[in-house]
Amino acid sequence: MRKKSYSFLEKYLNANAPVGFETTGQKIWMEYVKDYADEFITDTYGSVAAIINPNKKYKVVIEAHADEISWFVNYISPEGYIFVRRNGGSDHQIAPSMRVDVHGEKGIIKGVFGWPAIHVRTPGKEAAPSMKNIFVDVGATKAEEVAEMGIHVGTVITFEATTMRLGKKFITGRALDNRAGGFMIAEVARKIKENKDRLPFSLYVVNAVQEEVGLRGAEMISRRIKPNVAIVTDVTHDTTSPPYDRKEQGEQVCGKGPVLTYGPAVHNVLLNKIIKVAEQNKISFQRAAASRFTGTDTDAFAYSDIGLPSALISLPLKYMHTTVETAHEDDIEKVIDLIYHSVINIKENEEFSYF
Ligand SMILES: [Zn+2]
Repeated sequence: MRKKSYSFLEKYLNANAPVGFETTGQKIWMEYVKDYADEFITDTYGSVAAIINPNKKYKVVIEAHADEISWFVNYISPEGYIFVRRNGGSDHQIAPSMRVDVHGEKGIIKGVFGWPAIHVRTPGKEAAPSMKNIFVDVGATKAEEVAEMGIHVGTVITFEATTMRLGKKFITGRALDNRAGGFMIAEVARKIKENKDRLPFSLYVVNAVQEEVGLRGAEMISRRIKPNVAIVTDVTHDTTSPPYDRKEQGEQVCGKGPVLTYGPAVHNVLLNKIIKVAEQNKISFQRAAASRFTGTDTDAFAYSDIGLPSALISLPLKYMHTTVETAHEDDIEKVIDLIYHSVINIKENEEFSYF
């Protein structure tokens, strides 16, 4: 990965963009993408589209999501302990002893998820972390002190965790789901610009908000753009790290390339085109099956308006929704490559039809 790209990825991963409060991350993303796009549109709830070659009737979307899972302050005890509620699929099991950023009115307040000492727990009768017993300590001794720090019910909390390289090829950090996606679509925009590709359509490079709470941002912006075709990227599970059951979850592995999903929401003509593009460009890929929904923004695009040809190109990821989400650099490069080649191979007014 080139140096400038990695430093953008690192900066973007280390930023905060909790569901519903994505703007900080979006601004970093826009700052990088602005050199490769002709204009931006933003919508009511904060989704952003960078447009290349605007004002064409035929519109292509490539999309990732900008939001990350987090916590809400839900209750502050008289002693100043903060109990939380999920904002997206945050993992209560990993919370104990994690450091956090509390996004208060007066700026970020540092905190920790406390946990009772092993000494006072009875072996065999230990409580597992649950929404009832995890809590944040911000170093206050009473509720009033917490309020003075600018923290109230509804304040958002994110885990504190920065990006690092793991071994020669892996990148570990918080919210690779899905800022890795935002990074990859930004790199596609860069490639198009640098290779001076002439597109016979408008390309919308979309970084949508609120995926983690039900694909809401994609829903909104799909109605606004009304594209003709959408290629979505998100993360998927590496099922070879412990303790997945491959018979149940299928086999997707970090390092073996993008994962292409089959499922009713994925348009087969578009998917077959992407597969052909992968083969022609010698990009290795893996296959996965999804019954009913893909659980990604692909569903929102596919079923928007009167139905829209959509496909999903996923990045294999280990330890999803933890602070040590881990992806393989080669996969990141290959997803970029595959989206790039798929886009530049879309013909003028190309129709994706089953008949
Ligand atoms: Zn997620």
